[in-house]
Amino acid sequence: MAETTFPSTTECPHCGARLNARYANLGTKRLFCGYESCQCEGAEAERAAEAAKEKAEAERAVAEHRRRSLIRCGVPERYLALDHPMADELALAMEGGQWLYLWGDVGTRKTTCAAAVATRLHDRGKPPLMVPMYRVLDEIQRSFHDGGDPLKRYAEAGYLLIDDLGKRRPTGFVLDSLFQLIDRRYSAMRPTLVTTQYRPSDLVRRLAEQGDADTAKAIVSRLRHGARVVEFDGPDGRLA
Ligand SMILES: [Zn+2]
Repeated sequence: MAETTFPSTTECPHCGARLNARYANLGTKRLFCGYESCQCEGAEAERAAEAAKEKAEAERAVAEHRRRSLIRCGVPERYLALDHPMADELALAMEGGQWLYLWGDVGTRKTTCAAAVATRLHDRGKPPLMVPMYRVLDEIQRSFHDGGDPLKRYAEAGYLLIDDLGKRRPTGFVLDSLFQLIDRRYSAMRPTLVTTQYRPSDLVRRLAEQGDADTAKAIVSRLRHGARVVEFDGPDGRLA
């Protein structure tokens, strides 16, 4: 087999300097390894630009990987770039096993805060699961006909963040399932965060509108027992 041969020197495209070919010895053969690199300004600048481009591409890949991972954890895409001043403190509390009850009017950035808490947990290697309540209710409702355990995923998530509890009135069957979900997490001491428009006493009334008052009371009691209640009354929230 004929060996490919390379010229023994080449010229730097920047300064015209003569650059020698480099070889490695592989047994009895000499292996061509390219030409020595020139130290002139132009060649240095080209190498620096190359390295910067590779670094930027690697950083983009890492950011994209993180974005996809956060979306898989249920963090809504439109909240990915937002932050909240209380997120650090609440994420730490949740990591310490604390349940959190965030309540306040529409527009007080409860969801922004919950998403920022979920993002922090994710970035510390503690994958959260964030879900709007209506989706959990839909899955429970479907399971009424299809069977299965729609709650398993939510009951077993290390950190669950339920957004907008009480927005839709649950029926009796759904209310019972919701109680089971909260109770399973409560018994297993798995930290849970809920956001809702309702203060705890109003949430009982809200949940009981189409279901059993005692079940509604039991749900809210589980949520409150040991949970830190945080009232949001402005764009940045405040500790109650
Ligand atoms: Zn050169």
